[in-house]
Amino acid sequence: MKTIGLIGGMSWESSIEYYRIINEETKKRLGGLHSAKSVMVSVDFAEIETLQHEGRWDEAGRILARVAQDVERGGADLLVLCTNTMHKVADQMQTGMHIPLLHIADATAQRIQAAGLTRIGLLGTRFTMEQDFYKGRLIEKHGLEVLTPDEVEREIVHCVIYDELCLGLIQDESREAYKRIMAGLIERGAQGIILGCTEIELLVHAQDCAVPLFPTTRIHAEAAVEYALK
Ligand code: GLU
Repeated sequence: MKTIGLIGGMSWESSIEYYRIINEETKKRLGGLHSAKSVMVSVDFAEIETLQHEGRWDEAGRILARVAQDVERGGADLLVLCTNTMHKVADQMQTGMHIPLLHIADATAQRIQAAGLTRIGLLGTRFTMEQDFYKGRLIEKHGLEVLTPDEVEREIVHCVIYDELCLGLIQDESREAYKRIMAGLIERGAQGIILGCTEIELLVHAQDCAVPLFPTTRIHAEAAVEYALK
């Protein structure tokens, strides 16, 4: 079994889900008292969030590059960055690293393709919904057609993530707003919806949506276990 390296804290509300899922999945596959070999280094999200919203991505990238090296030194055989948004600095983070990064968008796209879907809705932070590092990767690398909500709705999705979900607040009102936004994407032709922020699956579940959901925390964590046991 390989050791799974995790960069957590963005936010810790979803990092604990990663830890739970990689262990549950390892137990499911190997049985008995088996659990995942893992090492997690966790950052202070307040520092990272300030850099994100001030557009200081280079500095955030330098911090995560240092953390990635700590994870590698801790004995990890692969790296799992427990956030969609910070994959924006994935390339910068990997400089000087010798272990592979399991990219969250690639793991998710593989799941979507396995389900035979081609036109997909994407919910996440504004950065994830609007920028090439994520949306563009799904389109160009994986040939998916990606639909995102309109500007006003993107703002709602973004604010719920930072003002509620990353603080552990799960509110019915916000779930209703997400349900309306997902219904709009389905009306425009989405065959499935990517929950492209690692906290959204704490709020929204299969019964809230008429098409299949692709929860990125679960998908990413399961892909890590698959790699670790290969
Ligand atoms: N966890 C979220 C994500 O998957 C948002 C927090 C962050 O900005 O890293 O994008």
